[in-house]
Amino acid sequence: MSTSICPCGSGTLLDACCGHYHSGHPAPCAEALMRSRYTAYVLGLIDYLVDTTLPAQQAALDRQSISDWSANSTWLGLEVESSEVFGGQTEHAFVTFTARWHDSTGEHGHRERSSFVQNAGHWYFIDPTVQLKAGRNDACPCASGQKFKKCCSGYFSS
Ligand SMILES: [Zn+2]
Ligand SMILES: [Zn+2]
Repeated sequence: MSTSICPCGSGTLLDACCGHYHSGHPAPCAEALMRSRYTAYVLGLIDYLVDTTLPAQQAALDRQSISDWSANSTWLGLEVESSEVFGGQTEHAFVTFTARWHDSTGEHGHRERSSFVQNAGHWYFIDPTVQLKAGRNDACPCASGQKFKKCCSGYFSS
């Protein structure tokens, strides 16, 4: 048991917040997953960052650069602005946030609107830098059972 406050800024204990998801419990919503991914960067939990990315994208992730970014940064905080359902479908969501960190080149703040999809009770981050390979009428790579054009393709066209 850890008695430290969670780095995600929730004000609660790590074990009762992101640590709960790091230990294997599925995050209940996109914002919780997003927060737990930020905390995983802080704690250097690279496996967690890979595992919570859309399975169809995991093989294309640059594990070394994720690890380097995690290790070479001093993480200063996270602010979640909003969490919204995308396209009226509860299994799709956007989370808008700003993360701050410090590294050898100075202090940085990065505001991002990240995309998430839920499948079989698990939320996944959709990495906008890894294109999903599917035609508009193909089954979506997120394995939702829907056609790509009705599902995650919207994350890449906006
Ligand atoms: Zn947390
Ligand atoms: Zn999809």
